Amino acid sequence: MPIYEFKCKKCKNIFERLIFSPTEEGVLSCPQCGAKQAEKVMSAPARRKSKGSSDSAGSSCSATSCPPGCSCH
Ligand SMILES: [Zn+2]
Repeated sequence: MPIYEFKCKKCKNIFERLIFSPTEEGVLSCPQCGAKQAEKVMSAPARRKSKGSSDSAGSSCSATSCPPGCSCH
């Protein structure tokens, strides 16, 4: 069964609902404030950029964009 997360535009409440048909999405009411302004939240898996130290800006400058006074080369 598809469980979707919804966020109320009015009170910012986030709640989950089972959706059996796509038409239900439009008439969902917030369980907290009752407003029918819920928008679907894509509960994407947490994909955080944790790319090691390959491109950590600031720590070292590239030769093409060295600021004046840089001592990297
Ligand atoms: Zn609400």
